[in-house]
Parts: sequence; C-alpha cells; structure tokens
Amino acid sequence: MALKLDIVVIGAGQAGLSSAYHLKQLGLEPGRDFLVLDRAPQPGGAWQYRWPSLTLSTVNRVHDLPGMSFADNAGGDDTVKASVAVPHYFAAYEEHYGLNVLRPATVSVVCPRGERLRVESDRGLFSARGIINATGTWEKPFIPDYPGRENFGGKQVHTADFHRAEDFAGQHVLVVGGGISAIQLLDQISMVTRTTWVTRTPPRFREGPFDQEAGRAAVKLVEDRVRAGLPPNSVVSVTGLPMTRAIMAMKERGVLERQEMFAEITPTGVRWADGRELDVDVILWCTGFRSALDHLAPLQLREESGGITMTGRLATQVARDPRVHLVGYGPSASTVGANRAGGAAARELTAHLGIATSR
Ligand SMILES: Cc1cc2nc3c(=O)[nH]c(=O)nc-3n(C[C@H](O)[C@H](O)[C@H](O)COP(=O)(O)OP(=O)(O)OC[C@H]3O[C@@H](n4cnc5c(N)ncnc54)[C@H](O)[C@@H]3O)c2cc1C
Repeated sequence: MALKLDIVVIGAGQAGLSSAYHLKQLGLEPGRDFLVLDRAPQPGGAWQYRWPSLTLSTVNRVHDLPGMSFADNAGGDDTVKASVAVPHYFAAYEEHYGLNVLRPATVSVVCPRGERLRVESDRGLFSARGIINATGTWEKPFIPDYPGRENFGGKQVHTADFHRAEDFAGQHVLVVGGGISAIQLLDQISMVTRTTWVTRTPPRFREGPFDQEAGRAAVKLVEDRVRAGLPPNSVVSVTGLPMTRAIMAMKERGVLERQEMFAEITPTGVRWADGRELDVDVILWCTGFRSALDHLAPLQLREESGGITMTGRLATQVARDPRVHLVGYGPSASTVGANRAGGAAARELTAHLGIATSR
C-alpha cells in the first residue's frame, strides 16, 4: 500500500529544503501533506561530498536558505571545509523548521497512476498528487565520449572523485575542462605535480565584477533555453570565469597555458588532430554534471531535443506534466536560484493542485 500525500519532494539539498520551507509556510504539514525524501545519509545535499580543500573561502558563495542565515551558522571561519559547514547548517535548518526529511531514501522511479503519481523508493511506496524534484546533479557526473577512452592504461577520474591533490603526486595529470572546478583543481594539483590543461573552447575570463545585473542576464540565457525545451547549458558558459587572485597567481606560475582539445585517447595518453601525442598518467575529467532525472523517465518529460520544456514564473514547472516541478534545474541551478525557485514551485504546484493554503 502506498502512503498518500499531496506532494513528495525528492532531494534535500538547497532546492529541496527551500521548497519544503515554502510548502510549510503555505500551511502544509511535513509528513502529513508533503514528505521530503533524500538519498544522502545525512543533511547537506551534495555539499557533504565536496573535496576537503573546498573551503568557505574558495566556494563561489553559499546563499542563505530562506529564513535562516548561513553566516550565523557557519561560525565565521572561512577556512572551514564546505563539506562540514554546509551540512551543519542544513541539519540545523531541517531541525529548526521540523522538515522531517526521510533519509536515506532513494527514489528509483516515478510513474503516472491516473490522476496521481506513484513514487517508488527503497523506503516504501508513496502516492502523490504532485512532485517537486530537487535531485541536483552530483549523482550524474558527465564524461564526454572520445575515441580510445576504454583503452587508456592510466587512471581516469572525474571531479566528483577528487579528494586531495597530493593523491596525484609524481604523476602527469591531464585536466580536461574549462569551468570553475577545472581551474580550482588545476590550481591545487599543479602545486604538487606536472599538469597539462585542455579545454574545448578557449576559456573566457571576465575582467569586470559580476554584479547582480550580469547575474540576472546570465540566468535569463539559461532560462530562455529551458523555456524553449532545450537542455540547459552550464553557468560558466554564460558568465565566464571570474579573474580572481588565485587565477592571476596561476597565470604567473604558467599553469594556465591552455591547449586545445585532443582528438583521441591512446593507451598511454592523448593524441591531437595534427598527430602530436602526449603521455600522461591521469586524465581528470572536470567536464561537469547532468541533472539526475533518470527516475522520472516513465513520465516522458523530455522533448526530442533531449531537453524538458519548462514553464511557470521561474521556469520550474514541466510543460508536459504540470504536476511536476524541477527545482535546482537550469536557471535555478545555484544556491540563490534554488532558493527562489523553491518558493515559486511551492506556490504554483499547490495552486495547480487546488490545495487550500494559508497564504
Ligand atoms: C564543486 C561544486 C561547487 C559548487 N559551488 C557552488 C557555490 O559556491 N555556490 C552556488 O550557488 N552553487 C555552487 N554549486 C552548484 C551547487 O551544487 C548548487 O547551487 C546547489 O548546491 C545544488 O543544490 P540542489 O539542491 O539542487 O542539489 P544537491 O545539493 O545535489 O541536492 C540534491 C539531493 O538530492 C538527493 N537525491 C539525488 N537523487 C535522488 C533520488 N533518486 N532519490 C532521493 N534523493 C536523491 C541527493 O542525495 C542530494 O541530497 C557548486 C557545484 C559544484 C559541483
């Protein structure tokens, strides 16, 4: 027998917690009217898996969850690991607002069942009138397909596997990717060993400050894509890379000498289109993540283009099935974006389902 609820929120990162907060503010009761399911063993969303050298001074910025200050809960120490500070904050948040997150609970599949949606998890079956999906991207590292990848005799790792730069000491590491994670890991690894950096397109460094207006413009570009049913692109592709002090120091050390993308992978390294070869011990794929949405496949939300057409005030509602909201997807894939989107999704979904709310 499935437990009946109005709404199931899947995922308890920034996006899921923000959504849960707003559902509660609207008068819905956690555990009775809605339930948050989270795969992770403890609070913190994907932050609990971030590498130890990612500290509060090296993250971009962790925006407050609605209603509670992060700074007041982070202890004011910039050197603290993000994988410690953010989970600590999320735990306090869940407790304070009594969100009763069920974890670890992995949703394997969501299927249509007439007017309702059947949510199957390893913690039981749930029947919901609508869902807010907030499963992030961390569970879906993306590695592009290059010929010869399976024949490489060295080690291949992804950003998601990175732990410490020292693990690569004495090895030649090829860092692939032009995003912020690639730059940060290149910085650290180049301090302890030899590195080569390749990117598909020349990295675009942003000289000026990234003010609110530039931020809004960048988000708008991603929003336009998902409203048109196209797959979202990465934020860096629209914002450019910030020219931080760390990046200027890397330039001075000569580690930002970017090479163009290789054409194929050999058993011992890589080969460029012009025949040039390079032997490396490790290929570190800093090639991003994709949205973790496989469990929604039976809902057939995707267009032929591979994207999902989004609608609603902040583009959180799936046009093909308005009972489904995606938060932390596309334009809301940042801590600040997820916050706002959680509020919009909670309001629009309750209105769509005709749930009487207190606001
Ligand atoms: C290395 C790195 C650094 C970043 N730094 C910043 C930054 O400084 N500032 C910023 O704004 N953004 C940053 N981002 C982006 C950031 O991840 C998002 O902004 C935000 O934290 C994502 O929140 P989320 O709730 O969407 O996803 P997550 O934090 O990934 O939460 C998703 C949750 O859903 C759970 N889940 C997944 N699948 C299932 C399932 N099938 N069933 C049940 N639960 C499931 C997961 O276990 C997880 O707990 C960074 C991203 C990366 C990769």
